[in-house]
Amino acid sequence: QQSMSAMTGNQNFKVVIRIRPPLPREQNENLEFLPITQISSDNKSCSIQEYLGAEVTEHGRQRDIAENPHIITRHQFAFDYVYGPDSTQSHVYENTARPAVLSVLEGYNATILAYGQTGTGKTYTMEGFKCHQNDPQRGIIPRAMEEIFRYIQNGANMHSTFMVRASYLQIYNENISDLLKTERSSLQIREDKKRGVFVEGLSEWAVRTPHEIYSLMQRGAMVRTTAATKMNDVSSRSHAVFIMIVEQMTMNQENNDVSKQIKVGKLNLVDLAGSERVRVTGATGIRLEECKRINQSLSALGNVIAALTDMKARNHIPYRDSKLTRLLEDSLGGNCKTTMMAMVSPAFDSFSESLSTLKFATRAK
Ligand code: ADP
Ligand code: MG
Repeated sequence: QQSMSAMTGNQNFKVVIRIRPPLPREQNENLEFLPITQISSDNKSCSIQEYLGAEVTEHGRQRDIAENPHIITRHQFAFDYVYGPDSTQSHVYENTARPAVLSVLEGYNATILAYGQTGTGKTYTMEGFKCHQNDPQRGIIPRAMEEIFRYIQNGANMHSTFMVRASYLQIYNENISDLLKTERSSLQIREDKKRGVFVEGLSEWAVRTPHEIYSLMQRGAMVRTTAATKMNDVSSRSHAVFIMIVEQMTMNQENNDVSKQIKVGKLNLVDLAGSERVRVTGATGIRLEECKRINQSLSALGNVIAALTDMKARNHIPYRDSKLTRLLEDSLGGNCKTTMMAMVSPAFDSFSESLSTLKFATRAK
C-alpha cells in the first residue's frame, strides 16, 4: 500500500499524520492507558484498532477491554509520513514544513494546514508552547520565520533586497477578522493581477527580525484566547491563518542595462477549527449555525483538495464554497506546495474522531 502522492509522484502535495503523546490526565489513576494506534516501521502507514464495544467510553468498560482485548477491526492507512508520539517539533519542521518554506523563498506560494479534533495538537504543532528562539517546543510558524531571516541574513543573494510582511486572521462563522488589529472584522476577499488573492483591509506588518514575529504571534494568540473566554472557546471553532509574504527584489546589471526582477512568495499557515462532529441535536440558534458552518467549511476544504488531486475533477475546483478555500485559492495545488497535517489523539475514547480524521486525510490524498 502506497500513499497517493508516492504513486502519482506529486511532490507538491503531502499528507502527514501526527499522533500526539498521551496527556497526563489520560494516564491518570490506576487506569492503564490503552493505545489504539500503530505506526509502521518506515513511518509510511498507520493503523487504528477498533475494539469490541468501542463506542462505550466509560473507564470501567475500557478496563474490561484492556483485560480482554478483542480486536474486531484494524483500519490501515498509508500517508507520506506518520509522526508518532515521540516525534519532536524540530523533526516535524525539518522533514515536513521546511520544503514549503524554501519554495516560498523561490517565489512560490505554499500552504500548511493543521487538521484534527480539538485537543490533538494543531496549535502545538503550528505555534508550539512558547515562541522563544531556541525553545525546543516552538512550532512551525516561529521556525519558518527563523529560516526566512537566516536566508536573508546569510546574504543568499548580495544584489537582492527583501521585504517580509506578516498578517494574522481568523475565520469564524464565515466572518474574517484581523487578529492584529482587533477593530477590523467582516473583511472581504478580493483578487487582482498584482496581489493575487488578498483580504481587503487586513493589516500587514513589516518584519525585520524573528523577534518581531514572536510579539505579533503573541498578540494574535492573546486576541484569540480573549475572545475564547468571552464566547465559549471560539478558538476551537475558528480557523486561524498566519500569512507571510516574502518579496525579493534583485537588480541585475549587464553592460549599461539595469534590470529589476521581483519574486513574491506567500506562505499560509493554517490552524483549522476542531473537526469534531458536533452533535447537532440539542444545539440551537447561533450554536447550531456555527456547527453547520464549521462542517461546511471543512468539507469544502476536503472537496477542494480531493478535486486538486483528482485528474478528472481539475476543471472545476470548488474554491468558492467557503471563505477559507477562497482565501487559499492561489496557494493550493499547481506549483504550490500544499501540506495537510492531520492530528490524532492516541486515546481509546477518541477512536471514532481519530478514524474520521484518518479518513479525511486519506481522501485528501
Ligand atoms: P488543538 O490546538 O488541536 O486543540 P493543542 O495544540 O492545544 O490542541 O494541544 C492540546 C494539548 O496537548 C496541549 O496541552 C498541548 O501542549 C498538548 N500536546 C499536543 N501535541 C503535543 C505533542 N506532540 N507533544 C506534547 N504535548 C502535546
Ligand atoms: Mg488549538
